[in-house]
Amino acid sequence: MNVRNCRKCGNLFNYVTGQPICPNCKAKLEETFQQVKDYINANGSASVRDVARECEVDEGQIRQWVREERLVFAEPTAAGIVCESCGTPISTGRFCEKCKANTINSLNGLMPKKEAPQPMKKEKESPRMRFLDK
Ligand SMILES: [Zn+2]
Ligand SMILES: [Zn+2]
Repeated sequence: MNVRNCRKCGNLFNYVTGQPICPNCKAKLEETFQQVKDYINANGSASVRDVARECEVDEGQIRQWVREERLVFAEPTAAGIVCESCGTPISTGRFCEKCKANTINSLNGLMPKKEAPQPMKKEKESPRMRFLDK
């Protein structure tokens, strides 16, 4: 059994997976999440700061939800996060549409092909000999 202290309230609980938060606090956090979501839906131009103040949530927590694509801000700049690749303000996730598309393209092999690396398996001619150390 994996018993841990809850990061929020300090109570011991059986840790399974994910964030080290006890079931009580997890349920509370989920409630808060719904509040935040409703607030954003009702206030299209709300920024992270507004939401944090109105819903009494950590700005960091809100950003985490945005990164997880659970929350979407109407205004890219309101979320206060930027594309991890090019730095453009984005409203959800980790990358902007452009970088996302690039990633998909490269996954599909549509990017110009780099020269295939030479196979490195055969290393017969090792310049160093093992017994040289002694
Ligand atoms: Zn707790
Ligand atoms: Zn980008």
